[in-house]
Amino acid sequence: MAHSPVMSALTGRCPMCDEGRAFSGPLSMHSRCDVCGVVFDRDEGFWTGAVTLPYIIACFWVVSVLAIAFATGRIMDPALGWFVPVSTVAITGAMYPLSKRFWLGLYGEWGYLYPDPEPAPEPAASSGS
Ligand SMILES: [Zn+2]
Repeated sequence: MAHSPVMSALTGRCPMCDEGRAFSGPLSMHSRCDVCGVVFDRDEGFWTGAVTLPYIIACFWVVSVLAIAFATGRIMDPALGWFVPVSTVAITGAMYPLSKRFWLGLYGEWGYLYPDPEPAPEPAASSGS
């Protein structure tokens, strides 16, 4: 029984079996689950959504900070010149590992994660020619 994408994000476990570790570090991950054999990194562009989620959050952050600064009359404060970019990069960097785990859990929830069949044996090298 697969668990929720939120639990995958929090535990970093395989979203299909809940036992194997999907991640070997904050961002690095195993190519397949040690327990159930599910392949984690299947296609080109698999992680596009994981990059998009922190970007969306960063956009809301920037708009919120600037709206608050505008509402409080501090929109011309020079500190905004460094606070907005530094805090945005920090939030994006902090969110990306969670986002990557959440994205993997979503793929598990949607049924796009599955183990590959055993690879066919290599054909014997042909001699000659
Ligand atoms: Zn697994």
